[in-house]
Amino acid sequence: MLHIGAHLSSSKGFTGIAKDALQIKADTFQFFTRNPQGFKAKDIDESDVQNFLKISEEHHFQKFVAHAPYTLNPCSDKPETREFAEMVFKDDLKRMEYVPENYYNFHPGSHVGQGVQTGIEMISALLNKILTPNQTTIVLLETMSGKGSEVGSCFEELKQIIDRVDLKDKMGVCMDTCHVYSAGYDIVNDLDGVLEEFDHIIGLDKLKAVHLNDSKMPFASHKDRHEQIGKGTIGFDAIVRFINHPRLKHLPFVLETPNDLNGWAQEIKFLRENFNG
Ligand code: FE
Ligand code: FE
Ligand code: ZN
Repeated sequence: MLHIGAHLSSSKGFTGIAKDALQIKADTFQFFTRNPQGFKAKDIDESDVQNFLKISEEHHFQKFVAHAPYTLNPCSDKPETREFAEMVFKDDLKRMEYVPENYYNFHPGSHVGQGVQTGIEMISALLNKILTPNQTTIVLLETMSGKGSEVGSCFEELKQIIDRVDLKDKMGVCMDTCHVYSAGYDIVNDLDGVLEEFDHIIGLDKLKAVHLNDSKMPFASHKDRHEQIGKGTIGFDAIVRFINHPRLKHLPFVLETPNDLNGWAQEIKFLRENFNG
């Protein structure tokens, strides 16, 4: 069974997300914990959460991915931006425990000229501040395309962050297919080689989720522009090989392709048809 979903709107609460997921025949999904600019999150509505947990169980939903706002930057050169990141991260992780045992994904950060090493130190310092031994949420570092001064466009940088975190069992990685291809990992012609490299550097046991996207941009362009499945530079065949890879096929796949619900429903249908169990 292919576990797949899409990045859904959270404007109608968890129940709204569950309804959208069912409509597109998804059994996992992603949503923003607050608007992408990172302002106030809505208060948790306990009846909404209860209703969601009931639907989840009935329909065998898999673990989902909550996505931090893009503005969260733990390695900004501005102290107030780093404090904002800490506040958002802490608050989001607290709220995540209402829906235990899922994933919280974030973009590691942009070092804005301070250098990759400084970025890595600041990101891991924040993680050491906010992770707690009792949390059930696993925090995922997203693989980045390497635009601007992004940290995390190579496996070594992600590994260095995880290495500096005390509670390593609370950490994982989310691989974004568009981003890794843009970053220069050739998942089209050498998927085995890329996975071997990931396994060697980070360990495939740390890979917990996939953002399944095609890319508008050429290989190794370090640009981040998602495309619908099969319409970009990665293409149908490579994406079908990706979801069927024996070391990946069990993971939750989340589409972040430019689509509406109908478009995602079609992509999910196509991908399910091309999944070999
Ligand atoms: Fe992302
Ligand atoms: Fe992504
Ligand atoms: Zn992206």
